[in-house]
Amino acid sequence: MKIILLGAPFSGKGTLARNIVKDFDIVQISTGDLFRENIKNGTEVGKLAKSYMDKGELVPDEVTIKMLAERIEKDDCKKGFILDGFPRSVNQAIALKDITDIDAVIELDVPLDEIRRRCVGRRICSKCGEIYNTSSYDKTICAKCGSPLFQRDDDNLETINLRLEVYEKQTAPLINFYAEKLFVVQGSEKGPEETYNKVKNFLKGLK
Ligand code: AMP
Repeated sequence: MKIILLGAPFSGKGTLARNIVKDFDIVQISTGDLFRENIKNGTEVGKLAKSYMDKGELVPDEVTIKMLAERIEKDDCKKGFILDGFPRSVNQAIALKDITDIDAVIELDVPLDEIRRRCVGRRICSKCGEIYNTSSYDKTICAKCGSPLFQRDDDNLETINLRLEVYEKQTAPLINFYAEKLFVVQGSEKGPEETYNKVKNFLKGLK
């Protein structure tokens, strides 16, 4: 199964993707995570990506598409994957058509005010990647594995407003681009479990 997850920053794509991975035996590919890994390893791609990420802008297509295409080639993608954060523009979606076919596109729809609220409080486990929010979990270590939590450099109000602008301009048009394969789910009404149950039922119907 090959799935794309669409949604503004803080719509809950990461959490949803991790639930899907557990139940459907596919891998999650997050281009944001791939860039952050490159930054950590001090690669050329990482250096270039950081200059865009710090401003909340998109990393240029030629770098992003090549990185994604190489990732999809790997053996662990054979059973399927969920793309989280790619494509982020119609141009990337067109390029993706030449790389692979896609079975479904899920859009997580969350009001902008809620997104801004989530941004400031997000904390991530440095080891297992578990995501928390200070509004409901105000500790500095992960409840699951005990590792320290960290805040991403780009998780601040100034950058989130820029990222939301970029999303509206460049990524939101994908909702029309993928209209035939699109499943829209409200990401804020009844919490992540309810959201995931709706998506799970949809994906079971696809199998
Ligand atoms: P994310 O972790 O998905 O919120 O991505 C963090 C940042 O990485 C974005 O604000 C962009 O600067 C960059 N990025 C991630 N995915 C892409 C993509 N598909 N195209 C261009 N830039 C991306």
